[in-house]
Amino acid sequence: MSWLLSRLLVALAALGLGGVLGLAVGRAVDAALAGMALGGVIGSAAWVLFDELRASRLLRWLLAAQDRDAPRAAGLWGELAYRIQRALRSRERELAQEQERLAQFLSGIEASPNGVLLLDAEDQIDWCNLVAADHLGLNPQRDLHQPITNLVRAPDFVTYLKSRLWAEPIRFALPGETGMLSVLVRGYGEAQKLVLSQDITESLRTDTMRRDFVANVSHEIRTPLTVLAGFLETMDSLALSEAERRRVQTLMRQQTDRMQVLVADLLTLAQLEGSPRPAADRWVPVRDLVQRMVADAESLSASRHRIHVAGMDATALAGTEAELQSALGNLLNNAVRYTAEGGRIDVSWQMDADGAGELAVRDTGIGIDREHLPRLTERFYRVDGSRSRETGGTGLGLAIVKHVMQRHSGSLEISSAPGKGSCFRLRFPANRVRRSAPAPIPSIGVGTPM
Ligand code: ADP
Repeated sequence: MSWLLSRLLVALAALGLGGVLGLAVGRAVDAALAGMALGGVIGSAAWVLFDELRASRLLRWLLAAQDRDAPRAAGLWGELAYRIQRALRSRERELAQEQERLAQFLSGIEASPNGVLLLDAEDQIDWCNLVAADHLGLNPQRDLHQPITNLVRAPDFVTYLKSRLWAEPIRFALPGETGMLSVLVRGYGEAQKLVLSQDITESLRTDTMRRDFVANVSHEIRTPLTVLAGFLETMDSLALSEAERRRVQTLMRQQTDRMQVLVADLLTLAQLEGSPRPAADRWVPVRDLVQRMVADAESLSASRHRIHVAGMDATALAGTEAELQSALGNLLNNAVRYTAEGGRIDVSWQMDADGAGELAVRDTGIGIDREHLPRLTERFYRVDGSRSRETGGTGLGLAIVKHVMQRHSGSLEISSAPGKGSCFRLRFPANRVRRSAPAPIPSIGVGTPM
């Protein structure tokens, strides 16, 4: 109201001033009244023009980008310009804050290990993170606002999306059949959809491995149990002579021994998986380790093989003695079991120039066909199942060796050829090898040249 009044007053002042000036000029030419009227009109027009100019400056500023300050002016137009500019700047600040919040939110979703994709009511892609793009074979920029059903060529997914039955996720193959994907859809807003994807290749593989493992363990235990049950039944139902009874007992003991070895190997594996990595500052002298394990191998061999040891020095390995014994013990045990009588087994230690070390067990045994080599360290993988079982094998030995080596930051290398023998190398990195052992552990003497 105050603006209206002041503008009215200014307009009247312009009218009055024009009129007075017009009257003065009119008197001089004897047309006082006409002069006053004309002066009033000119005064009012001047005011309107001046006002228009100020309004059009503000309008020009509003129509432009408003990156400069609003035009300064006194009165209503100045106040209007100031208020509009303040409101605009405040909106811009709020918008910038909103945009920052949105960017943070999106980068949070971007960091998700799962795929996140937003679809509009027409199933067109509104937004997706890189993981979703990778899972579904999309280009996160080019494919925006494209119908997803044209881009993801998995009929099961399209049917699932259209079915609106989204209580359970759907599984289908990743593009290029490189694995399996689990996709869950949820509705939100007005017919928009949230599509969540997860690469389940690894978890399916682990599930399969777990199932196979349980099936294998059950099978391995059931076989000796069936034999034992059969023997017990025989003893119950048949009157056996003393000699027969002793023979049955021997066979039963063999089966229980087999189960005990299997359970021991399973426990070793479980312990390896469940315990922390071996410390890198506990040193095990290689010579003592080899001596002890070779003694065991000799008693298993019962002089059927020639066992030679070479390259032993004062080197020590950083790790857990029991695990290292288990690794070397398994290799020697295999060498004895898979080498015919009269064969030769060599155990050697050597160091590389860079300080890495290698403990090798070489035999002149039956050897292994090259196609089996990559799978030998899988649990229960055997080249010849009956030979393995007959000689007391569990199929877990090399899996244990591989695990031990991984825990010691090392590796197991295998080279072999059928009929030509095999060589199993335990490779240790330089940081786990030390030239001199500080405190020698008392060694068990074996009749093997060191
Ligand atoms: P197993 O208890 O059956 O010996 P391992 O895991 O120790 O199980 O070995 C897996 C398979 O690798 C064995 O079944 C055998 O076929 C093969 N193998 C391991 N060591 C040797 C070797 N020194 N010579 C020939 N074959 C071997």
